Amino acid sequence: MRSNKNIAILGSTGSIGRSALDVIRSIEGLKVVGLSGHSQLDLLTKQAHEFEPRFVVATNPETRDSFKLPGLKQTEVLSGSDALEVMVTSGEVDIVLAAIVGQAGLDSTWAAIAAGKTVALANKETLVVAGNLMTELAKSSGATIIPVDSEHSAIFQALAAGNATEVRRIVLTASGGPFRDLNSDQLKHVTVEQALNHPIWEMGQKISIDSATMMNKSLEIIEARWLFGLRHDQIDVVIHPQSIVHSLVEFQDGSVIAQLSPPNMKLPIQYAFTYPDRVAGVCPRL
Ligand code: NDP
Ligand code: MG
Repeated sequence: MRSNKNIAILGSTGSIGRSALDVIRSIEGLKVVGLSGHSQLDLLTKQAHEFEPRFVVATNPETRDSFKLPGLKQTEVLSGSDALEVMVTSGEVDIVLAAIVGQAGLDSTWAAIAAGKTVALANKETLVVAGNLMTELAKSSGATIIPVDSEHSAIFQALAAGNATEVRRIVLTASGGPFRDLNSDQLKHVTVEQALNHPIWEMGQKISIDSATMMNKSLEIIEARWLFGLRHDQIDVVIHPQSIVHSLVEFQDGSVIAQLSPPNMKLPIQYAFTYPDRVAGVCPRL
């Protein structure tokens, strides 16, 4: 990697946040400067003691005022409703990983983009609710948005094979989720536990349910539309249960370029952190 990177993680206690910390542990030159958690304050405390970041934010208004980190002299516990914004706009932060779930991640991701940061974006819901505004803001602030969602990371990587004007269409892959082979009668009897038990990916609860209903792919079509400036008729979806091909780009000449790797979120997270470089890390190989 050409330069060291200081990273703030919004939602470090979640599935993406924890995978991101594994990536950072394994790559020299990546450093944690900010962490945030909502309800899992014991885990947040543990992470703070391991990484000794510059900033830590507990976001739940019911518990944040009593959250303290005694003994961590270098770490500032930011409080108040604008604490995440203060953290992500700090001059000490190079990359912000947006990994809060749902619309709750909007304000802090917005602040990072307005401040011209490199934003590693897992929180697709922010693009679903405000994609046109966020991409315009990034253009004016000079912020770089690098997708972390595996399909969009694949598209981002495959697009490097040509020019944006040469893209005919993109194809997002979908595993089909745990209920892919059920008929509509069988679907009437599925349980929440079955829906949360995804055959391929281990993820937070919201996205697991969205994957079981296929709603996740709808959100991803909207996400792709804004990230890559495509028309809706240029975005297709194909079911690919093995989840090895993470998505494909078809160019005007008929060439189709895909990105492949075992299904593991650490690779797209790592790529967003090390971009434009590629380094060895902890990701399993094909
Ligand atoms: P998790 O539910 O595992 O983690 C969510 C994170 O957000 C946790 O750190 C949680 O804190 C925090 N959080 C929850 N509510 C709030 C709130 N109101 N305000 C501030 N922080 C909050 O989700 P995932 O890691 O699975 O997903 C994160 C994002 O990444 C989502 O947008 C998802 O769509 C996207 N994504 C996830 C993938 C995956 O493999 N998991 C794949 C592709 C995209 P705490 O746990 O302390 O309560
Ligand atoms: Mg995805």
